[in-house]
Amino acid sequence: MIKHLLLFLLFFINFLSLGQSPVEKNGNLSVQGNMIVNEKGIPVSLAGCSLFWSNTGWGGAKFYNKDVVKWLKKDWRATIIRAAMGVEAKTGYLDDPSNKERVETVVEAAIENGMYVLIDWHSHHAEKYTGEAIEFFKGMAEKYGENPNVIYEIYNEPLEVSWSKTVKPYAEKVIKEIRKIDPDNLIIVGTPNWSQDVDSAAGNPVTGYKNIAYTLHFYAASHKDFLMKKAQYAIDKGLPLFVTEWGTVKANGHGKVDYESTEKWMEFLCKNKLSHCNWAINNKHEGASALKHKTSATGNWKDSDLTPSGIFVRAIIRGWKERCNKSN
Ligand code: MG
Repeated sequence: MIKHLLLFLLFFINFLSLGQSPVEKNGNLSVQGNMIVNEKGIPVSLAGCSLFWSNTGWGGAKFYNKDVVKWLKKDWRATIIRAAMGVEAKTGYLDDPSNKERVETVVEAAIENGMYVLIDWHSHHAEKYTGEAIEFFKGMAEKYGENPNVIYEIYNEPLEVSWSKTVKPYAEKVIKEIRKIDPDNLIIVGTPNWSQDVDSAAGNPVTGYKNIAYTLHFYAASHKDFLMKKAQYAIDKGLPLFVTEWGTVKANGHGKVDYESTEKWMEFLCKNKLSHCNWAINNKHEGASALKHKTSATGNWKDSDLTPSGIFVRAIIRGWKERCNKSN
């Protein structure tokens, strides 16, 4: 009788944890050494999608809605989503404040669905708009900083600029202001050369603040062993990395899916327990788009609505827990 009761209890506990959302399971994320860990101190590897640039009229904005977020959670089993808010590029946030409303829609949908969400300052020249970044992220921290879901990504991709003289000083200014409001949520800092030079950040990381991680981006058909070695070097030096964006195709968003290189990268991400978001949930005519051109922006997508990249990436994300993340 007791044996039956115990079995039932085990089944029930298992059942309860199966029903938990990613955020209910993992809670507040933090940085420990070169790892991102959950509330219990266990390394976490999140897998999900990046939306396309939010810019008005660029085609990706229509996917910034609740139905899409809910579908990615339910059908793709995404544990994270990225709102890529265009900043200085035409019709981005600096021209058109409705970009911010799109981001807020996605953040609120992620919170409702128990997913993690990256608030991405999708800029290539963020150091020129430091004041605007501070004002924006202070607003986000005030509104959402108490939710464990939220991750601040303060600089998508710096170009060929100095880490020490340009990116790091920018990051320190923005982090200082976020931390006055939100003492703990993760902040991810971009790295030079389209967020590939993680080695330069590893030699001179931001100090004095907790829960800071660094951006690594790769496109599987362009970036192979050379970038993987650089990433491994940074990890070995103690740098916590976060892959806020990656693609199955070439770095310009075009070309065919490189299945072999993508598989190698997935193995690397899993081995190092890195979190990642695929670029992009969009239906533009380009290799990196997960959706075919006519696909609706309301979720409920069938396999026939997905591009080769979309089919491959959906399978990776859906299977991520089994592939890599058994403990959480
Ligand atoms: Mg907080």
